[in-house]
Amino acid sequence: MNYKIALIRGDGIGPEVVNEAVKVMERVGEKFGHSFTYTDVLLGGCATDAVGKSYPDGTAQACKACDAVLLGAVGGPKWGADKPAEQRPETALLAIRSDLGLYANLRPAALRPAMADACPLRRETAQAGIDLMMVRELTGGIYFGKRDRYTTEDRGVEATDLMAYSEKEIERIGRRAFELARLRRRKVTSVDKANVLETSRLWRSVMHRLAQEYADVEYEDMLVDNCAMQIVRNPGQFDVLVTENMFGDILSDEASMVTGSIGLLPSASISDGAPGLYEPIHGSAPDIAGQDKANPIATILSVAMMFRYSFQRPEEAAAIETAVDAVLAEGWRTADIAEPGVTPIGTREMGRRICKKI
Ligand code: NAD
Repeated sequence: MNYKIALIRGDGIGPEVVNEAVKVMERVGEKFGHSFTYTDVLLGGCATDAVGKSYPDGTAQACKACDAVLLGAVGGPKWGADKPAEQRPETALLAIRSDLGLYANLRPAALRPAMADACPLRRETAQAGIDLMMVRELTGGIYFGKRDRYTTEDRGVEATDLMAYSEKEIERIGRRAFELARLRRRKVTSVDKANVLETSRLWRSVMHRLAQEYADVEYEDMLVDNCAMQIVRNPGQFDVLVTENMFGDILSDEASMVTGSIGLLPSASISDGAPGLYEPIHGSAPDIAGQDKANPIATILSVAMMFRYSFQRPEEAAAIETAVDAVLAEGWRTADIAEPGVTPIGTREMGRRICKKI
């Protein structure tokens, strides 16, 4: 198979981690008989420097012509809040997500076996294993609702943000969650605040209808406040968690923390029809950029997600994940995850070792 990949290398450590991910892709291609055609797409602070805006014309079209998009990271102090919106990297990130219709954000939080000591939870909890998938609705809810600020006669200045969800939006993300659960341990936990919010009551009724359709998948409702507690008390109980945009924003960061390091966590954003976008959850880490210190594993595991979810190639995905686990089990660490007394290896060396294991 030949796959067309759009590469958004971005800023800071983005180009360094994408380089290693590409080497891993090439190695997987060699082993499984695939080839790749890469299109470099300029986006972020580097695009502002090159052409004056962070989201150059034609970016979405270039990505849509590919089968998947791999993004390193964008941003940095050089293109901060004092710059006009069209020059800021964050503007470009929101634009590409919206132009590709990426409504489902998938963030696995899996504790890699060799990294159990990095888990801030109790030893027994870590040893029981953590392997959950957070499915967050990404294009609706309060972040996209009408917002307003006005002055009232009796209460002074007031502000409102509107949270709205349609049945269609809920059903679309719900189906994604159930389909994903079928590829995993067949359990969906739907997170809402149905004891207070009307959007949550609608959310719950749609999820219940879907749960009947996907009768082979175990289903439960959970209130968001309880879920926040359960993620630190007993994360091993979860398989797929599905929730609306703002709850997902908060819970996915919480879930990441229980696995120890942001340098290890991948993500995928998926749409219907357009290519999926795969990226590490970390940012551009300007403090270590260009020093061969960045951990490339989150980006490499993002490539594994690409194989699994965009190309339906679970064997290739598993080959990458197994190689990462093997290198970690041998004790190799980049500086961000090195225990005291362990001499860290660099970005390129980590990439090379993972390739060798595939
Ligand atoms: P960050 O994730 O870039 O860095 C936080 C800390 O973690 C830093 O100390 C950094 O050195 C370290 N770190 C991050 N990734 C690492 C890796 N792979 N290996 C080793 N260490 C790593 O977050 P930040 O400092 O808040 O943001 C820096 C810039 O990144 C900002 O401009 C921000 O807007 C941007 N950002 C971009 C994205 C994205 O592209 N999706 C996401 C988050 C932040």
